[in-house]
Amino acid sequence: MSQTWAQCLKTLKDTIPLSQYSVWVQPLKAIEDGKTLSLLAPTTQVKDYVNKNLKTQIKSAVAQHNKNLQIFIGVAPNINSKPSVNKQHSTPLFEDYTFDNLVLGSANQMAYGATKQIAENIKGSPYNPFIIYGGSGLGKTHLMQAAGHLAKAQNKNLKVLYVPLMDFVRNITSSLRHNTIEDIKAFYQSADLLLVDDIHLIAGKEKSQEEFFHIFNFLFNGKKQIIFTCDQPPKNIKSLEERLKTRFSQGLNLHLTPPELEMRAAILLKKSQNEKININLTEDVALFIAGHITSNVRDLEGALLKLKAFIDFSEMDQPFVSKEVVEAALGDLIKPQIKNIDVNDIQKEVAKHYALTVSDLSSKSRKQHTVLARQVAIYICHELSPLSLNKIGKQFGNRDHSTVIHAIKKIKEKLLENNEIKSDYDLIKLKLANL
Ligand code: ADP
Ligand code: MG
Repeated sequence: MSQTWAQCLKTLKDTIPLSQYSVWVQPLKAIEDGKTLSLLAPTTQVKDYVNKNLKTQIKSAVAQHNKNLQIFIGVAPNINSKPSVNKQHSTPLFEDYTFDNLVLGSANQMAYGATKQIAENIKGSPYNPFIIYGGSGLGKTHLMQAAGHLAKAQNKNLKVLYVPLMDFVRNITSSLRHNTIEDIKAFYQSADLLLVDDIHLIAGKEKSQEEFFHIFNFLFNGKKQIIFTCDQPPKNIKSLEERLKTRFSQGLNLHLTPPELEMRAAILLKKSQNEKININLTEDVALFIAGHITSNVRDLEGALLKLKAFIDFSEMDQPFVSKEVVEAALGDLIKPQIKNIDVNDIQKEVAKHYALTVSDLSSKSRKQHTVLARQVAIYICHELSPLSLNKIGKQFGNRDHSTVIHAIKKIKEKLLENNEIKSDYDLIKLKLANL
């Protein structure tokens, strides 16, 4: 770490509240080159927050220790992103994604059992292809890779290939340029177990679908096992060739659902003992956190990391983490859920956010910006107000309930694929929570 930054951290720890320090300052990576101190945030959200709220304090701390340094605040290249395609067009399995590291609960019981059975019987499983589908952060990649580890542990000569779908698409694209499509196909066709992550992303990519169809048939006819993950049942994927849909649906399709309360608490307890986290949670406190963070496992991991940062930097010496510490460390994450918010408040906040008026939201305008704001407002009303779809429609210029359903569906999709809309939505909800 940069010497200057190490000194600044001590100063900053005394000058800004600990909860802000641990969440926003501590994750910054510092690189110093004599002229500039570059502070690299793990995400754009952290960068923006630091720039807006903490830059002055940081500047004055740096000036105290080294007057000549310029400060640059940016975003670090994503060090957590999975390794990109290697020369062999596949990605190594992640070490930790094993069955041993998975917590079992009713949400994943069936998928866990089926995956294990397939991995133990790779050459003769009746479940081919096998598709694990469900929302983000629920453990699909982990489960699929656990199959790869187990199959390999049983037979080290087995060729297990793991490929995230977008890497596959990139490989196909580059092979078309270099005229090496046959090599690529031969490579994937040499697998005994092919693991394709996030297959839904193949939607609309015609050339990749065509090549994939041939690879799939080759492996399937050769009785080689294929496992996919997908964010929805494959039969629902739009812009996917019928022949692929049919192939995918003929296999076993299993749904991974969000973990229930006890499973979430068990995951927290297991992960808190991991050497990288290493904090002492009681079951009560784990249940308390699990009661508030209900979305997915990735969010539970995020909460643990935040908690760890808080504990490390507050130099606590109690043997167990208390609920008060959790509240101080996780702040907004564990605020009571906001519900029953008045539609007018939602309309006001959304209109303000998008620099429109409340009446724009109810108007007949079809301008793209207004339509987006209107749909976001309808979506949030559906989520946070007790009103029926019909009544929500009435509040937006007497629109009928099919328009409301359409808006909800649109925003649901956009929240998954568009970070800008997701952060607008998060911000509006944060404001509503603090009304
Ligand atoms: P997905 O592919 O569904 O988006 P991942 O497989 O990447 O989700 O899982 C997200 C994180 O949650 C990973 O770190 C994974 O190890 C962890 N995880 C998911 N399910 C479990 C579980 N049942 N037990 C322990 N960790 C889990
Ligand atoms: Mg995944």
